[in-house]
Amino acid sequence: MSNDQLSPSSTLDKSVLSAKIRRGPGRHGIGIFATADINTGEALLRLVGTLLTQPTRYTIQIAEHEHIDAGNNLWAVINHACAPNCVVDVQQRVIRAICPIMAGDELTFNYATTEWEMATPFDCTCQAAHCPGRIMGLRHLTMAQLIPIQSLVVPYLLDKYFAQ
Ligand SMILES: [Zn+2]
Repeated sequence: MSNDQLSPSSTLDKSVLSAKIRRGPGRHGIGIFATADINTGEALLRLVGTLLTQPTRYTIQIAEHEHIDAGNNLWAVINHACAPNCVVDVQQRVIRAICPIMAGDELTFNYATTEWEMATPFDCTCQAAHCPGRIMGLRHLTMAQLIPIQSLVVPYLLDKYFAQ
């Protein structure tokens, strides 16, 4: 375990909006954890980074052909959960809490809510009732898998889903 994993998030990281989060080791490798209780709606991370036209493992899709690459910013290491405690707000370009998060809890968002087609699909074993098992992107979800996360999906992607 390196010192870097234990230290508070660098204040030089412009993506960090909250003093209540830090990176650290978790069940799925390095992730982001709450160091204090966080309220519903709190903005935690700003999606700063380099704009790309294609997705990679480390991008979040913010528009049809716009993918932000995290680079060394903290949000690069936020992990996926099918029933997450955070959401990507593409309008404000922030990641915010969608429920109270307790100190020590890992921050997560559902990757399928921002990605139409994942650059690097992976298997999920989160046990959520609507977990599709393999996370491949929004377009691959069935209606039954979509409905529980519908309110978290980026608006233009939701339109695209229903138009396909
Ligand atoms: Zn899952």
